[in-house]
Amino acid sequence: MQALVESLKSWVNAGLSFIYPEICQTCGNERATPAEGFVCATCRAQLRRIVPPFCNRCGRPFEGAITTTFDCADCRDDEPHFSWARAAVIATETMLEIIARYKYQRALWFEPVMAELRMEGARPQLAGQHWDCIVPVPLHRTRQREREFNQAQRLATRLSRATDIPTNNRAIRRVVATPTQTQLNREERRANMRRAFAPYGGAGLDGQRIIVVDDVLTTGATTSACAGALRAAGAAEVCVWTVARGI
Ligand SMILES: [Zn+2]
Ligand SMILES: [Zn+2]
Repeated sequence: MQALVESLKSWVNAGLSFIYPEICQTCGNERATPAEGFVCATCRAQLRRIVPPFCNRCGRPFEGAITTTFDCADCRDDEPHFSWARAAVIATETMLEIIARYKYQRALWFEPVMAELRMEGARPQLAGQHWDCIVPVPLHRTRQREREFNQAQRLATRLSRATDIPTNNRAIRRVVATPTQTQLNREERRANMRRAFAPYGGAGLDGQRIIVVDDVLTTGATTSACAGALRAAGAAEVCVWTVARGI
């Protein structure tokens, strides 16, 4: 089965390079192969990795020389339901464009870049810790039907393969089809998300330690609402991994 999948993948890649020239899809200048997700080395180098100092809770990076661990003012004012959230890179314009094209235009060739970024930080941080399952942020079924795939689910599958932690797509569901949140402020997003997720009956999450996965974290309202629903269903601890996050 694995061999078949691998050979299919190489056929798909060969097909892609036949259809698309091996040109970076971000800058349009340099060479980039399908295996590189059509993002060239120069553009990759411009992605801004998140490095300390950052909020111990939500992972938001800060400028300056803070050496002690700290929680940011947002997390102190309004404690999120997750124990901690981490992201690989800052949601710069380039990164947001990659994510938007991946998500809305099905630019699936970007997936290797996103998965690689995701894994880069997750693998060492998760090593030596016990986590029971990976839960992708669910889409509402009407949205999933429109888009035909859930980007969080695809990233969760990749993280699962790399870490051997199983995914659980039947832990929570999105019960309210929330409108896009891009125009909303922090407060509005939180109100919007409050009852957006609910656990599946008999999800059996008692005492579980769960990793929530999404593509981008903006204010953390969505992932915190997911974590809240998981904890209401008995999860002992929830952490969050995203590819990118806003600052
Ligand atoms: Zn480029
Ligand atoms: Zn914070």
